[in-house]
Amino acid sequence: MQSPFEGKQIWFLTGSQDLYGPEVLEQVERQSKDVVALLQAADEIPVDVVWQPVLKDRDAIRRAMLAANADESVVGVMLWMHTFSPAKMWIGGLDALTKPMLHLHTQANVELPWASLDMDFMNLNQAAHGDREFGYIVSRLGKQRTIVVGHASNADVQHKVGVWARAAVGRAELQSMRLVRFGDNMRNVAVTEGDKTEADHKLGVAVNTWGVNDLVAAVEAVADAAVDELVARYEELYDVVPELRRGGERHESLRYGARQELALRHFLEAAKATAFTTTFEDLGGLRQLPGLAVQRLMADGYGFGAEGDWKTAILIRLAKVMGFGLPGGASLMEDYTYELTPGKEKILGAHMLEVCPSLTQSTPKLEIHPLGIGDREDPVRLVFDTDEGPAVVVALSDLRDRFRLTANVVDVVAPDAPLPKLPVARAVWVPRPNLATSAECWITAGAAHHTVMSTAASLEHFEAFAQMVDIELAVIDEHTTVRSFAAELRLAAVVHKFTDGLR
Ligand code: MN
Repeated sequence: MQSPFEGKQIWFLTGSQDLYGPEVLEQVERQSKDVVALLQAADEIPVDVVWQPVLKDRDAIRRAMLAANADESVVGVMLWMHTFSPAKMWIGGLDALTKPMLHLHTQANVELPWASLDMDFMNLNQAAHGDREFGYIVSRLGKQRTIVVGHASNADVQHKVGVWARAAVGRAELQSMRLVRFGDNMRNVAVTEGDKTEADHKLGVAVNTWGVNDLVAAVEAVADAAVDELVARYEELYDVVPELRRGGERHESLRYGARQELALRHFLEAAKATAFTTTFEDLGGLRQLPGLAVQRLMADGYGFGAEGDWKTAILIRLAKVMGFGLPGGASLMEDYTYELTPGKEKILGAHMLEVCPSLTQSTPKLEIHPLGIGDREDPVRLVFDTDEGPAVVVALSDLRDRFRLTANVVDVVAPDAPLPKLPVARAVWVPRPNLATSAECWITAGAAHHTVMSTAASLEHFEAFAQMVDIELAVIDEHTTVRSFAAELRLAAVVHKFTDGLR
């Protein structure tokens, strides 16, 4: 996966006014460049923070915002009122701004120079009230923004800016995202359906369908030499069972899996798509349901949804982008079955085949087994246990009048015992705060059985993203009670009725 952060920028806009005279404004400029230098040097902030000239009047403010809108490399703007910048000057610019905004409430100095502090110092370093004047107008206009408070050298500040920046890149990514569906949704399934036109409007993602036989033609067109090369690579990367190895009696099935992977890659590249769906009910002339191919494409950053589930495919791509470079990964996951022994309650999640190997550092086994549904040849697939540690599972549902994200913070644990008979990759987790509360809340929210499980991007990235695109996010974590969660859902429903179409 290519870095989604390359070439992306955040503009740093400093507010002031002409009243102060050139000497003070030169200091403002110097000090705002110092703040930017601290942010640029921060490892936690994955995109370039670019200093822009100090803004002193309404025309310059509006021009800066329009320029930020027009520049495709700009994923968001950071604002700081170093001095007092009367906020009526900002109305036109804020109204024009269409990109995410972070209000960095900071100041040049960490410590106050108590002994030498005079009125000149006070006039220069007055973000404490300049930023409040600015905050008033942003709230009055009802603009979404993230506020981060503290000195730019502070690790917590840099972390929060980094989280916001990752979410802003995720938002920008979705706005130009194309998703290829091979066939439609699994027949009669409700939660994987949804309003694709609204997804284009709300999230920017173009969701369109191709006939699966377009993919079949691409599979047949793959050159044998390319297949030779890829199966050799599989033998390096994975613990391939003997029957699938070169010379093994079922090697031809692995070659077909490689052919599917190469064809899917070419197809998606030609369509400029970064996510896709398949469905076992519409495989046309495909000989296997794609398993290994899907797993490897997900590991390369593609979003994927099974049974035509384009909404989950979007979430996986989003998690791949926001979590890029962080330890861990992201995958399609499905709540499958429960361990209900009191005190040991946990969820076993998996899918028919398609769980992404980015969820483990171990070497997956490459195996072949029959598939009970789909009426095709046995598919090849990677089998592994997900690494232990914290994760978040997130689902996207269409509630007719809006989309809702539901997130549950979970802890992936080892299976209670090995699973020698389970022929698919899986994860075992304990949902926070516990299985009973989590499942009751999840079902109350109408959240899906398909999710993205992410161990790289975490809840805070999804929270920042949801705020930016103004989409509901219902959170289930260690603080959740059934009563508080139900109250939050009721409140969110009322808020949505009053605010839809206003922002
Ligand atoms: Mn499924």
